[in-house]
Amino acid sequence: MDSFEVNQKNLKPLLERFQSKGIQNLINGVSVPSSSGETFDNFTPVDNSFICTVAKGNAADIDKAAISAKEAFPAWRDTDPKARKKILHKIADLIVSRAEEIALCESWDTGQAIRFMSKAALRGAENFRYYADIAPQARDGKHLPSPTLMNITTRVPIGPVGIITPWNTPFMLSTWKIAPALAAGCTVVHKPAEFSPMTASLLLEIAHEAGLPPGVWNLVNGLGEEAGVALTEHPDIKAIAFVGESRTGSAIMRQGADTLKRVHFELGGKNPAIVFDDADLDRALDAVVFMIYSLNGERCTSSSRLLVQSSIAEEFTSKLAARVRNIKVGNPLDPKTEVGPLIHKIHLDKVLSYFQVARDEGATIEVGGSRQGQEGCYVQPTLLTDATEDMRISREEIFGPVLTVIPFGTEEEAIWIANDVRYGLTGYVWTNNLARSLRVSNALEAGMIWVNSENVRHLPTPFGGIKDSGIGRDGGDWSFEFYMEQKHVGLALGNHRIPKLGISGNQ
Ligand code: NAD
Repeated sequence: MDSFEVNQKNLKPLLERFQSKGIQNLINGVSVPSSSGETFDNFTPVDNSFICTVAKGNAADIDKAAISAKEAFPAWRDTDPKARKKILHKIADLIVSRAEEIALCESWDTGQAIRFMSKAALRGAENFRYYADIAPQARDGKHLPSPTLMNITTRVPIGPVGIITPWNTPFMLSTWKIAPALAAGCTVVHKPAEFSPMTASLLLEIAHEAGLPPGVWNLVNGLGEEAGVALTEHPDIKAIAFVGESRTGSAIMRQGADTLKRVHFELGGKNPAIVFDDADLDRALDAVVFMIYSLNGERCTSSSRLLVQSSIAEEFTSKLAARVRNIKVGNPLDPKTEVGPLIHKIHLDKVLSYFQVARDEGATIEVGGSRQGQEGCYVQPTLLTDATEDMRISREEIFGPVLTVIPFGTEEEAIWIANDVRYGLTGYVWTNNLARSLRVSNALEAGMIWVNSENVRHLPTPFGGIKDSGIGRDGGDWSFEFYMEQKHVGLALGNHRIPKLGISGNQ
């Protein structure tokens, strides 16, 4: 049996389990159906076959979950951080021990290739370990002495928080949000994306097995416009950490206004990879291909625009086209597969619609540009050339394996094109000129910039975007800043003068 067959064989019992039980909500440590009894169906994009039913949570379920998170909050907040650390490490251990199961389910549910999902599962464990280790310092503060007072600061967890995640790499992204929230001492209500609910339920199963007290982390499945809206409007939920589309972020901001929600948004991107003619072009080529065609291009940090200097544009693009033609599209459980099916028929149609847009705008479809096969949500890895920066294919987030190539002449022009979009998540700069790399990094309007590198995540660094790509940062202590409130305490050092009011004759 080759490893593709082994993966198929190992997935079978997991699917049978999901099929027989369906996916329930998990509130106060108990697995429950939705209060209405309603469910929705979950399908795999591999062949659009049915996977399982999923509880369709509504406002009543969100209310129960929020109350459960509220009741569990004081005890979790006051738990010795070392005990929290131990539980979070145990969650990480269990993720590692079930990494294969998680990766298989994630691949089947999302269409993401197993070669990337195995690593994503392990990265989820790393997220828990990292925040487990820094949990004991989450409340640390400053000493800011003044002549009369010893001023100290501390941080306290904000309270129960809502976490809303998207369908691209849902497991990894959930851990990224939930681990720091728990480490900070917050309790959680999680609403995963309706297109990919499988691994969120595995993750919570693991958390309870690791000894997480009931109510500290609750899961409500459901649609964005129903369960998602209710979560963002709930008065007991103090903050919303959201990953998803920019326009959903705007909606959440409106929905949360009445209850003055604190929000953290990680939104869309149209990130440029800028390749100058003095770069190491072989490495640049590897990175450009990897950063758009890995994870099916369904990646917020994907380099979906290639800005290439005119002097090397022809040669670089022709090498690029050869690589794109060679990318292996196939069943995501096959370890050889590089690009799997897109998440859902609706998203497939959106990505396909951009091929017509490209034609209408006068760009050239150099490679790909069609659906692949008739079964499942497969699309050909696509390269669009002869594009200009004002085209929709150069400005809108397509969120698929589609790269738009835009040539530029000078450094100033590259910066201008790179910045002339509504998004500002990442930028990738390829040059061997140190001063130029500094100038361009400084001028790019983006939250994260990599020079001569693909996106390599280092957990202590800030992750997030500017402009329409987001508000706030994840990573390191930045996550604690979001999930915690600052508190100042001033202690008098002696008998400093206090102004006296209400004493007659006192002027
Ligand atoms: P989406 O915005 O459609 O959905 C994300 C989540 O929000 C889902 O759980 C959905 O049910 C919920 N939702 C939808 N409407 C809601 C509402 N009105 N109120 C509350 N919740 C609601 O996004 P998607 O299509 O699932 O994910 C793809 C998007 O996510 C892309 O734009 C991508 O760039 C972005 N993303 C960004 C990052 C980042 O770090 N910046 C990371 C991953 C994905």
